[in-house]
This record gives sequence, structure tokens and C-alpha cells, in this order.
Amino acid sequence: MLKGKKAVVTGSTSGIGLAIARELAHQGADIVINGFGDAQAIEKERAGLEKDFGVKAYYLNADLMQADAARAFIDDAVKALGGIDILVNNAGIQHVAPIEEFPVEKWNAIIALNLSAVFHGTAAALPHMKKQKFGRIINIASAHGLVASEFKSAYVAAKHGVVGLTKVTALENAGQGITCNAICPGWVRTPLVEKQIQAMSKEKGLSVEDAARELLAEKQPSLQFVTPEQLGQAAVFLSSDAAAQMTGTTMSIDGGWTAR
Ligand code: NAD
Repeated sequence: MLKGKKAVVTGSTSGIGLAIARELAHQGADIVINGFGDAQAIEKERAGLEKDFGVKAYYLNADLMQADAARAFIDDAVKALGGIDILVNNAGIQHVAPIEEFPVEKWNAIIALNLSAVFHGTAAALPHMKKQKFGRIINIASAHGLVASEFKSAYVAAKHGVVGLTKVTALENAGQGITCNAICPGWVRTPLVEKQIQAMSKEKGLSVEDAARELLAEKQPSLQFVTPEQLGQAAVFLSSDAAAQMTGTTMSIDGGWTAR
């Protein structure tokens, strides 16, 4: 479905980003992956994309919290791939604390990566997409882009910001072959959420699995985790012709979280 397309997925050495990269590659897209982690493990993932799906895959190490690096990353990705058709802004971090105790450096880091990096990546990719009159920008927001939870001030503010930025990006580029949408996942059991499960297990004296069940019960009526692969397939859909008139929207994949 995506043969010959060139896709960039930020924060794709782990979790949701990695699954999105694999699903896009599965459909034939060449891929740039990015993110932190053990060099050998990252090389294994990169080589796996090429071997499993017969596409070209590149790893570009960039700290997207830095504005200049976030823009240079897109330029480097365009050089590696020979263009850019699909940009998935996925990299994100979390920190949990009440507002009055929220460390300023954590606030700044979350806003820089979860919101500003989406702006910088989009700004750097759009000129290429405009020239070719084709582009798909997919922002991985969150259920927290639509509703709030306590103790996640920076994350909720950033993700609501991403949803707003998604709409502006869609409007500015409507009718030019470029769409921009946000996927809003509920709980997905990645390293980002595992930390929160561990914290709940410690705080409430529960086993890790009981804590995971309680985490789901608080928010996600299906009582099941969303899988990274399901999000990857949503990204494939948003990249497809079927989604050409879908722009400026949020796609909730949250087991019913935001329905109540
Ligand atoms: P994760 O921790 O598994 O992966 C995060 C990725 O971002 C990793 O590849 C990491 O190396 C990379 N990264 C971290 N800091 C970076 C930086 N400064 N520059 C570049 N890359 C960096 O997390 P995940 O759960 O897969 O989250 C991916 C996205 O999905 C995030 O935006 C997150 O907010 C969002 N999300 C996650 C959930 C969930 O339940 N896991 C739910 C809704 C939304």
C-alpha cells in the first residue's frame, strides 16, 4: 500500500514508535527511525526492518528536545530517504507530580519534546511536502489531548497543544495533498506506562499485574491495553488514499476512555 513512500517516525527505538515504523515498513515504506537506547539493540531493529520487509531503513540519532536538532533531523532524514511523504511525530516523555511540586526542568522538557518538537518537525517537513503536493503528518497525541488527569499538567498541556497544532496544520495545508491528524491512544503497555504501573504497585502495595488492572479500571472501560500494532495500523490507514479527505481530526483508540 505504501511502496515507494518515505516515512520518518520520531521516537521509534521503542514502544509505539517502533510498532508504527514496522507497520509502515510492512506496507512497503522506506523508514527513518530515531530515539535513544542501546546502539546494538537499535541496529538490530533497523536491520530487522530491512530484512523483514525489504525496505530501506535508516537510524538517525537526534535529541528532538533541542529545536535546532529537531529541524536538522528532518533535513538529514530527507537526505537519507531522498524525500519525505509521511511524518509521524511520536517521541514523548512523561512525568507525574502535583502542579506545585512539578519540577520546572521536567515541565520544560515535556513541552520541548511532546509539543515543540512536533512544531519543529512539521515546519521542516512541510516545504518538501508542499513541493510534491503530497504529505501525511500524523501526530501521536493521547487521550490526554482531549481530557485531563491529575498530576500530569505538562503532559496534558502538551498533548492538548498537539491537538490544536494538528488542526492548524490541517487548515493551512487543506487542498494541497497534505493531511494532518492526531491519533489519541489510551493506555498502551510500553516502557512509558510500565513506569507508572511500577509506581502504582509500590504506592498501593499491589502486585505489578494488579496495579496494571487498576490503572486500566480507572480510565479504560475495555479493561484491555491498546497494542502498539493497532496504532501502527491506524497510521497506515491515515497514510493511505482512503484517508485523503481526513484532516484536522483526532482518532481516539482508547478502549472507550473518552466516551464517558
Ligand atoms: P516509549 O518511552 O516506549 O518511547 C518513547 C520514544 O521516544 C523512545 O524511542 C525514546 O528513545 C524516544 N525519545 C525520548 N526522548 C527523546 C528525545 N529527546 N529525542 C528523541 N527521541 C526521544 O513511549 P511510548 O509509550 O511508546 O510513547 C510514544 C508516544 O505515544 C508518546 O508521545 C506518548 O506520549 C504517546 N502515548 C503513549 C501512551 C501509552 O499508554 N504508552 C498513550 C497515549 C499516548
